[in-house]
Parts: sequence; C-alpha cells; structure tokens
Amino acid sequence: MMNRLYGPRDKARGVDGTYNWLLEEVAELGQELKGTDRLATEKEFADVIAWLASLANIMGIDLEKAALAKYPYKCPKCQSSPCKCII
Ligand SMILES: [Zn+2]
Repeated sequence: MMNRLYGPRDKARGVDGTYNWLLEEVAELGQELKGTDRLATEKEFADVIAWLASLANIMGIDLEKAALAKYPYKCPKCQSSPCKCII
C-alpha cells in the first residue's frame, strides 16, 4: 500500500532521506509515549510503520514477508508461541 501511495516519491527521496524521516518519527513516538494522548500515540505508531515500510520499499524489501520470515508466529529462538525464552 505504501509503495502504491508513495513509491515514486520515496525513491526520489532515497535511502538516507527516508531513514532520517523514520528516525524523526521514532523520536516523536518516544515523546508521545511520555504523554496521555492515546490517539496521538496511535498516530505516531502509524507514522513509524509507514516510514519503515517506505524505507523497505526503496530497498526492495517486502516488509511483511521479512517480518513473517523472521517471526513466523513463533519466537525465532525458542520456536514457541508465546515465547518461553528465559530473560
Ligand atoms: Zn523465545
């Protein structure tokens, strides 16, 4: 979806510019986590995943496929769901 919406613009901005936007959005999420505005926090989560998806698209990485390959509904270390790793 993000590629359909913003693919050409993301590619024109490039990896460095998009990565910097992602960092900025992560910082904004960090600020919202300190507050009490749940809707604003939800929006920051959406911004972070949107910019992460844009960065993955530029790199030619299918974010959903990569996430499911590493976390296929079970912990990659203990192979359990829920995770049974001792921390
Ligand atoms: Zn585990």
